[in-house]
Amino acid sequence: MIASCLLELNNVTKYYSIRRGFFDTRPKEFKVLHDVTLRLEYKKILGLVGESGSGKSTLARLIVGLEPVSSGRIFFKGKDISCLKDLRIRRQIQMVFQDPFSSLNPKKTIFQIISEPLKIHGLCPKSKIRDEVARLLVEAGLLPDAMDRYPHQFSGGQRQRIGLARALALDPELIVADEPTSALDVSIQAQIINLFLELHKKRGISFLFISHDLPLVEFVSDDVAVMYQGRIIEIMPKKSFLGKDRFVERHHPYTRLLFESVPLPDPSLSQKKDFKAEALEASIDLSWDNACVFEPRCKYKMDICKKISPEMKKVGDNHYIACHLYN
Ligand code: SF4
Repeated sequence: MIASCLLELNNVTKYYSIRRGFFDTRPKEFKVLHDVTLRLEYKKILGLVGESGSGKSTLARLIVGLEPVSSGRIFFKGKDISCLKDLRIRRQIQMVFQDPFSSLNPKKTIFQIISEPLKIHGLCPKSKIRDEVARLLVEAGLLPDAMDRYPHQFSGGQRQRIGLARALALDPELIVADEPTSALDVSIQAQIINLFLELHKKRGISFLFISHDLPLVEFVSDDVAVMYQGRIIEIMPKKSFLGKDRFVERHHPYTRLLFESVPLPDPSLSQKKDFKAEALEASIDLSWDNACVFEPRCKYKMDICKKISPEMKKVGDNHYIACHLYN
């Protein structure tokens, strides 16, 4: 049976235990992700935005299996992979990391780095591994002779290409890209993004693209999910995200706050701004299960917002918002 979507997260929750000192025998639980529910269709790019500490990278680590989920289910092509260690399925989900230098072993040559997954998964005969590594380097926009050098001999953009070549070695169907361009110069960012889009088109790879850069997310994504303090608070199609009607369309108040941070090149558009959310630092409270997490910063807050956590409601075509304003 072919699943209707490539990746599906159902009520995924993650918490960590925190001990406050050596003699603390009753560690507290710190909830980082709260009931995250998301879908990524085949051959699509889903953008994930949100401020630092909102749980985006934790979500990425759960999807690729670097950490176990505390509760909830993750399905990949219809198979529950929440606890699955099956390498044949796991290899179809690869990750490109934020820092291209620390994600590559400085003691190994590029050949050793890229050939390692091929050897572990037995995907290529020994005699053909050098040819395969050369082919992957060329596909990632590098010359084949790069394979005999070490990571420190490359620039940041080239290292990110090496990380991508390593991910491509296992012929993945999904790449989780966690802030893949934030450590790069603007001109190099454009090259890496174009490479992602080329691979998406040529190989049909789906991407979960995590970034702070809203215009970049709008450029690459088909749909966009907004995360705030470990919850998905809005999911929308690309056309509703940063489009010219961004201030008149229905959006979560936090999403509007994000929009406010993006400069508008057109003065007529800035006149449409009728919204000014309170840019206060919300206190990190761990007991948000019965309230809206955005309540301390929201100028539209109502009595109900302190008592009931809002559920996701459909407000348009493929557009969902978790806010009591849209009940
Ligand atoms: Fe604001 Fe209430 Fe909506 Fe939360 S649920 S964003 S507090 S209006």
